[in-house]
Amino acid sequence: MTNNKGKLVVISAPSGCGKGTILKRLFEIDKENNNEFVLSISMTTREPRGVEQNGVEYFFASREEFEDMIAQDKFVEYAQFNGNYYGTPKPFVEKCTDEGKTVFLEIEVQGAAKVREKVPDCISIFILPPSLEELERRLRGRKTESEEAIARRLAVAPVEIARQDEFDYRVINDEVDRAAYEIYNIIKNL
Ligand code: 5GP
Repeated sequence: MTNNKGKLVVISAPSGCGKGTILKRLFEIDKENNNEFVLSISMTTREPRGVEQNGVEYFFASREEFEDMIAQDKFVEYAQFNGNYYGTPKPFVEKCTDEGKTVFLEIEVQGAAKVREKVPDCISIFILPPSLEELERRLRGRKTESEEAIARRLAVAPVEIARQDEFDYRVINDEVDRAAYEIYNIIKNL
């Protein structure tokens, strides 16, 4: 029997790095071609930010609901970040990879390490900001979070960047279109 299982692609980056914008462009590029990429929607206990909607950016849940799901082994991986839980629900990922689709997980570095352990043939990509100064400028430009939340994200960024060598590929977000094509080509040329 041939193995037509879809690939699992793990994308990590410090928050504020422009990862969401790159992924949006990447999915547009895929749509212009053969449209086989899907993005897993994570579950989180953090509050919705700005115009975020339940079931679109995240499934928003209480800590109790999240811990129930952990107890029932319903996550591919989960981690705590900035005092909140974030996790990848299993059923969607399993269904899509079984259908041969390329599934993207946009997760932080602890979760990425867990996925690499469980799914050794996954592809992991770390997106780097052009500089820490640029990262700070982008995080402040968002204007949807308190100073405290921004400071926490900025404190975590160097810790995450220090783990970039654990990833199969590293892509610098100097320009959205270029970075999106670089990721697209990595996946297409595997
Ligand atoms: P944010 O609060 O900015 O949306 O996300 C904070 C961090 O959590 C980001 O690095 C994001 O990639 C990560 N994240 C989002 N979903 C998941 C998930 O399902 N699992 C893990 N481990 N991290 C996630």
